[in-house]
Amino acid sequence: MPRKPATVIVVGGGIVGTAVAHTLQGPCQVILVDDGEFPGLAETRTALGVIRAVYGREPLDTYARATWEFALAQHENPRSPLRLRLAALDGRTARAAFLDHLLLLDAFLLLARRAGCQLRVGWQVTGLLLAGGRVRGVRAAPAGDGGTGEVIPADAVILAPGPRPDTLALEGLPPGFVRRFQRVQDIIIPFRLPAPSDGEPARAEAAVITARSLIWTFITGLEPRTLHAVARLAGDWMPPSFEQSVAMVEDLYHRFQLPGEAELDRIRTCIDLAGPGGAPFAGPVAPLGGAEGLFVAAGLGLEGLSLCKGVAGVVAREVLAYLQ
Ligand SMILES: Cc1cc2nc3c(=O)[nH]c(=O)nc-3n(C[C@H](O)[C@H](O)[C@H](O)COP(=O)(O)OP(=O)(O)OC[C@H]3O[C@@H](n4cnc5c(N)ncnc54)[C@H](O)[C@@H]3O)c2cc1C
Repeated sequence: MPRKPATVIVVGGGIVGTAVAHTLQGPCQVILVDDGEFPGLAETRTALGVIRAVYGREPLDTYARATWEFALAQHENPRSPLRLRLAALDGRTARAAFLDHLLLLDAFLLLARRAGCQLRVGWQVTGLLLAGGRVRGVRAAPAGDGGTGEVIPADAVILAPGPRPDTLALEGLPPGFVRRFQRVQDIIIPFRLPAPSDGEPARAEAAVITARSLIWTFITGLEPRTLHAVARLAGDWMPPSFEQSVAMVEDLYHRFQLPGEAELDRIRTCIDLAGPGGAPFAGPVAPLGGAEGLFVAAGLGLEGLSLCKGVAGVVAREVLAYLQ
């Protein structure tokens, strides 16, 4: 008789969890658990929609390449609604792209579901079921219910909770595990670019991403007539006050002679967790003193769209090696 595939539970249905579910469904029976009404409604929903093909350092390049290849295959598939708008990255053409990232998540989810992945939405994982130092499943309850819920048995569990410290502190993880992650913050300042003067032909906005300093990256083409200045800061930063935002804008005008007017009321701050050394954590926690059969895919540090498929591939390989 053919052997029943092992059951694995993926906790978190953001872009990372759905990529993991898509990669593991088939060799395993995956149950994807998310406490939202639908996958993708947490941090993933708020993303700008930029993916990069390269970062210039490992392991990020390997991770990004896997996502890039998946997204490009969807783009070239006439039956997929996902389309990429290729962008230049630091002067090199087609090294980044703008996309509707919820369609990327839908592609992972659809392929996983078609292959038999089970979905439990509106359920929160409140604890891990442990026996003899191994994970045997999870405890889950309807989100917001506060009850004891039920046990879902599994042979392995993968936590892909995004920047949710509560889930990265569940019993079964190594003591102080969540402290391995540090906060990273992006401050996004949109600048409205001047309209073409009368008689000047309207040009299609070039899709360009350029790093202008260690901190500042400029993006055009994401929105019509808008340049987005993005500052990446690491550490426990507070969102900037209004006065700090004004000082940043003045500094930008002064240093980079930006055309256009800063839209102060549209300044956004995005906060995420980055893993050790600024790279994602993708793998088992047992070598760090956590439970056997427990894996984490987290800390993608505001680059989750770009890195998700590569991180999913690494975690999936580790899970399959463990199950053998
Ligand atoms: C404003 C903004 C713009 C961004 N733009 C970009 C971009 O252009 N390009 C890019 O590459 N990255 C971007 N990022 C970063 C990117 O959005 C994230 O890295 C990525 O979405 C993280 O995905 P995730 O699956 O890890 O987390 P999430 O999307 O947060 O998904 C985690 C899911 O797990 C669920 N969950 C957590 N704990 C539990 C539990 N115990 N039980 C059940 N469910 C649980 C959560 O509810 C959530 O649905 C941006 C981020 C922000 C904030």
